[in-house]
Amino acid sequence: MKNIIFVAPPAAGKGTQSKLLSEKYKIPHISTGDLLRNEINLKTDLGNILADKMQEGTLISDDIVLQLLNKRLDNNDTKEGFILDGFPRNLYQAKALDELLYKSNKKIDYVLVLDLDIEIAKKRILGRMSCPNCGAVYNSLIEESKPKVDGFCDFDSTKLSRRTDDNEETFSIRYKTYLNETAPLIDYYIKKGLVHRIDSGISKEYTYKKIVAILEKGSDN
Ligand code: AMP
Repeated sequence: MKNIIFVAPPAAGKGTQSKLLSEKYKIPHISTGDLLRNEINLKTDLGNILADKMQEGTLISDDIVLQLLNKRLDNNDTKEGFILDGFPRNLYQAKALDELLYKSNKKIDYVLVLDLDIEIAKKRILGRMSCPNCGAVYNSLIEESKPKVDGFCDFDSTKLSRRTDDNEETFSIRYKTYLNETAPLIDYYIKKGLVHRIDSGISKEYTYKKIVAILEKGSDN
């Protein structure tokens, strides 16, 4: 069973890595950011409340996110494992997740901590663009990650879009929130013997190789 969570600052690549791992191991990639954005796109009552908060870069209330996640984890496709991207974000959520999994006889197997320097994180966020059709991710500020044609997807030529919360002000709030609320989870999971740390400032290929080595051999080298 591969039940995986990430602890990582914004732009460390948890979305990209989750997508790759989900394809390789045929287990679902569950992003709480996507679950929340989905509510906004569907213009549900909840979505309308969420839109402003997410734009600010602050965390959404634990109960709302937990409710959405609980429903998603109930889905049959999580039987062989799952990859959580963006959850837990604080100690309350980590404990709630332990309880939730315990009730269904599951547990977390791997906690992947992606370390990233703040300046690299900022560049990745401010240049980030993605394809709304196939999900491919690009970066207009990083040479090797630019799309072949400026502003359009290499795979299906769809016009690329930016997340509205990928701006400097929101980045700084999100990074602070990570340091204050999410980073303390590293100690929580170290005590449980679940943490594997990876330098995610090198390249996505390097990060992916390291993660696969950890998942397959239990090795961090
Ligand atoms: P992400 O896509 O993970 O970068 O999340 C985007 C935004 O969604 C965050 O800045 C938060 O406002 C919200 N969000 C995502 N996951 C959580 C979570 N586990 N708890 C609270 N808010 C979250």
